[in-house]
Amino acid sequence: MPFTSQDSTASASPVLTRESLRPNCSNCFALCCTALGFSRTADFALDKPAGTPCQNLASDFSCTIHDSLRPRGFRGCTVFDCFGAGQNVSQNIFQGISWKARPEMAKDMFPAFKIVRQLHEMLWYLAEATTRTFDPDTSQRVDRLNTIIEGAMTGDVQQLLTLDLGNLHADVRSVLMDVSEEVRASYLATGDDHLDAVVVPGADLMGRKFRSRSFRGANLRGAYLIATDLRGCDLSGADLLGADFRDARFEGTDLSKALYLTQSQINAAKSDSSTHLPADLSTPTHWHDQT
Ligand code: SF4
Repeated sequence: MPFTSQDSTASASPVLTRESLRPNCSNCFALCCTALGFSRTADFALDKPAGTPCQNLASDFSCTIHDSLRPRGFRGCTVFDCFGAGQNVSQNIFQGISWKARPEMAKDMFPAFKIVRQLHEMLWYLAEATTRTFDPDTSQRVDRLNTIIEGAMTGDVQQLLTLDLGNLHADVRSVLMDVSEEVRASYLATGDDHLDAVVVPGADLMGRKFRSRSFRGANLRGAYLIATDLRGCDLSGADLLGADFRDARFEGTDLSKALYLTQSQINAAKSDSSTHLPADLSTPTHWHDQT
């Protein structure tokens, strides 16, 4: 029987562990290279409308300039992280049938990718929340949200496309903030009054030099740390949700116990193998080429 997105119900999704929330491009129909739109900037060398394949996309869904993305002006492609949404949409929600094999499915598949990416991002943060909290009530709230999110991705595609993301975002944000408070309170204050005065959520710390300072338990949520020198700093227990680390320096920095860090944030920064990363994140290959 021909597959249509209207009657699709995804096969039972595997439990979405942190490992399954990492991109697996070989199981994806290059959804980030087609569904998303880009404007010509320092991060992306050309204008590309949403819903159209990038001109560098090969017929087998690989990238023809994969090994030279940065020198060719496509740095944004080395920073982007779909949180594993690409393979989930391609292989589970649309059952391994590509937009190329069934072009009429693109009108649902591309918007579904954008929604599922947001859901996977929420699951990424919730996975950390559940390992960092000691409060059983908080754990229950996290479990409830995981169930709602996973349920949304294993039901009817049309329901997924009309999901109320705003309310879900608000509920996830609330529990993440509670876990942040709990975690940060468990780290001793730095005793550095000057640092405490500038380190606040959303702070503009662009280009500042903080070499070897302690940010233990700091709240850097949404802070602007573009090109900030954080070499040798300790960010254990620091809330880094949404912090902008483009071109920040991380050589020798301890991020191993930082809270809500993503691979995309790491990919945007500069460093080498001396950075201490959380176990779920990996050293970007381009760090080895930087000075
Ligand atoms: S340059 Fe390569 S990785 Fe970037 S969008 Fe185009 S095909 Fe995808």
